[in-house]
Amino acid sequence: MSNLLNQPFQTMDRNCVVKGNCDLCGSKEACVVAEPSELNCRIVMCIHCQLMYAFPQIEQEDLDTFYESNFANDPGSRSRPGQGIEDEDDIQKQDAVAEWGLNIINRFIQIKDKRILDLRCQTGALSARLQSGGAKVVCVEPFEKNRWYANEQRGLSEIFPLPFSRFSKLPIPFQGPFDAVNILTHHVLAHVLSPRMLLEKIFSMLTPGGYLFLDEKDVLKPARYKTGSVFQSGPVHQYHLTAQTTARYLEAAGFVLIECTIDKGRTSDFHHIRAVARKPESNNLPGMPPQTIHYDSSQGRIRWRLWWLKQTWTLRQVYFLGKRKTHKILRRIRRRIPST
Ligand SMILES: [Zn+2]
Ligand SMILES: [Zn+2]
Repeated sequence: MSNLLNQPFQTMDRNCVVKGNCDLCGSKEACVVAEPSELNCRIVMCIHCQLMYAFPQIEQEDLDTFYESNFANDPGSRSRPGQGIEDEDDIQKQDAVAEWGLNIINRFIQIKDKRILDLRCQTGALSARLQSGGAKVVCVEPFEKNRWYANEQRGLSEIFPLPFSRFSKLPIPFQGPFDAVNILTHHVLAHVLSPRMLLEKIFSMLTPGGYLFLDEKDVLKPARYKTGSVFQSGPVHQYHLTAQTTARYLEAAGFVLIECTIDKGRTSDFHHIRAVARKPESNNLPGMPPQTIHYDSSQGRIRWRLWWLKQTWTLRQVYFLGKRKTHKILRRIRRRIPST
């Protein structure tokens, strides 16, 4: 991490301001929060809206090459061995996430007869549930093995292949308006080249009053400490979002926020943000009042948080590994004790 974070309590020196290009607010002023390494891009933070992003940004072709040849974090990605989704554990995990997502969607809309666009559907666990509930679902998914499973095993017929590098403009054959857009299956904003462009496109494709359901990871809230820092995810995450910058993005695209908060029911390497946003009707939104989001993520607070994570990282790793090992041992013991 940069020297800037070694003095988290001092006010920022104007000499530390570097060139950036903020996708959220358009500012060209930033400060470095992580120097480039083999494991992460150079990460800067916008000094005006606190968006953390890779700068300079990766080229579209390089991003495609990375996903084709190196990316193995999805069971359906090309770098994973095998012809299809072989691990039943992966499918079970996706089914569990789908149940979580379906509960969120059901809180806001009656899915029967609704037209829903599912972005990054993976193997279609949630899309298939929406389809069973009577919705007309169309899907977008970058990985071929996932599309195969969604089609062959889950009976989803309209799935468009689109690499992450082209998600921003969303050049898909499905025409709006949609009643809802679902991005709860897997986080997407961090992976695309311009979240702002993608959100504006989604906004334009929604019917007035239509909903966006969105999952994202909060980079300031790590949960498993597998890497050396919160930024070590290679070039896949061009954006490192927080609940606050996710909320700002949604509002900047024109959405009214209904919810944007850390969801206690979903954790991966990070704690997850659950966002529900609505495209306004012409003048007023009937029903639920929008949630007021408090922006308490000043630059100083973020720098302090990153500094604190850096100081306590090794301790957190040891604690987490110990907890996991104990959990595994207890599970093995429980299996050996016959139930009475
Ligand atoms: Zn900004
Ligand atoms: Zn990711």
